Amino acid sequence: MALQTNVAFIGLGIMGLPMAGHLLAAGCSLTVHSRTKAKADPLLARGARWAVTPAEAARHAEVVFICVPDTPDVQQVVMDGILPAAAAGDVVPGQIVVDHSTISPSATRNMAAVLAGHGIQFLDAPVSGGDSGARNATLSIMVGGDESSFEKIRPLLKAMGKTLTWCGPSGAGQLTKLVNQILVSVTNLAVCEALTFARENELDLQKTLAAVSGGAAGSWQLANLGPRMVDGDFAPGFMIKLQQKDLRLALEAAKDRGLDLAALSLVHRLFATAIDDHRENQGTQALFAVVEKAAKRR
Ligand code: NAP
Repeated sequence: MALQTNVAFIGLGIMGLPMAGHLLAAGCSLTVHSRTKAKADPLLARGARWAVTPAEAARHAEVVFICVPDTPDVQQVVMDGILPAAAAGDVVPGQIVVDHSTISPSATRNMAAVLAGHGIQFLDAPVSGGDSGARNATLSIMVGGDESSFEKIRPLLKAMGKTLTWCGPSGAGQLTKLVNQILVSVTNLAVCEALTFARENELDLQKTLAAVSGGAAGSWQLANLGPRMVDGDFAPGFMIKLQQKDLRLALEAAKDRGLDLAALSLVHRLFATAIDDHRENQGTQALFAVVEKAAKRR
């Protein structure tokens, strides 16, 4: 698929705004919609068109990208927006809908089946790499659904991400993203606990980070969230409420398979404490404050 194609992007938050910006920069003709219109202003200033509803955004788009918070949000966009438009013959035939949100794998399969009945391919394409990955177009994009549709839109995904993987049939992208979230959240907890230990032993935290980041303990979490923890900078790249949504999805998927995952359950409980502490809109690095407080209580 050529880059100079008509695309729509729905959901212009921390991730969606820079991702849509990359599509525009790559030469796409871009229509955007988001719940709060002001979020679109930087893209409208660069030549994107505003659509009042998801259905209007989807109307002339060969590919529709979605990046909204949770399963009900995607269902609202797809089932109340794109589907009725498709049923009325008011979308481009053979349209591909690409969902970059992290949502339920089973709800994903259901939406894919319903849209397929109207000739629309629905690809689950959750991303990893954080706000910096979205800004720098270095995201990992994990795709489930029709493989030939994935190959068709590869040039568009390439404008937003570095590692593109077709993971399998519908839902496989979301399941792979939950694997990613188990790794991310348990590693985040390890970073919080290690820095608590370092601080209580009166180590210089900057030097500690520098010393351990390049060795076997190095990780994205340590490199990106470690310095923010040390600085007490809890501004969101990835909000705690969204992380907790992903952990709930992972726990539900684990339960479906009869799995009891101890570390995942622990980190889910600690994030629940963070939410009780009114930290839901802070970045996931704010888990440090919860872990530090809990460690000192014992
Ligand atoms: P965000 O900043 O909250 O952005 C979501 C955007 O979607 C907001 O602008 C919101 O509108 C809009 N929205 C919500 N419901 C909508 C609807 N029904 N129709 C149209 N627009 C709607 O969240 P984010 O951090 O970009 O995350 C988006 C998705 O990416 C989530 O599934 C998240 O788990 C995933 N993700 C995030 C990161 C990260 O580091 N942030 C990394 C990987 C994956 P308002 O502006 O009105 O709130």
